[in-house]
Amino acid sequence: MKHYNCPYCHAYLNAAGYIALGVKKPHGNSGVILLSEEIGDYTTKINPKLDIHEGELTHFHCPSCTESLHLPSDERLVRILKTDSNGVEHTVIFSAINGERSTYLISDERQLTFGEHALKFMDPEWYLKL
Ligand SMILES: [Zn+2]
Repeated sequence: MKHYNCPYCHAYLNAAGYIALGVKKPHGNSGVILLSEEIGDYTTKINPKLDIHEGELTHFHCPSCTESLHLPSDERLVRILKTDSNGVEHTVIFSAINGERSTYLISDERQLTFGEHALKFMDPEWYLKL
């Protein structure tokens, strides 16, 4: 069983195939977003009242401790932790910009990149700066 956790309070963030995160629009409404548990699947579910537009930077926070999940060094990227079915912990990084499909799965041994926009952020040593 894989699970996703908040990097700060270690709350379990996933259930029933989705990762639930708190979101807040800039100067706007807040709510929850559901992201597919499968890395590379960009299915999201959100209340249409939140009305998040393509290309908009959304603020993500932990639904438990409310800590910001954005990288201090780059607010366009969001970080959560994943433990796979073998018990190995990874860092998952994804774009906070709606419609931008890029996800990084990082473990000690390797970095995997998913999504057609991932190259945009490519800096071979960026994860050393976290
Ligand atoms: Zn938390």
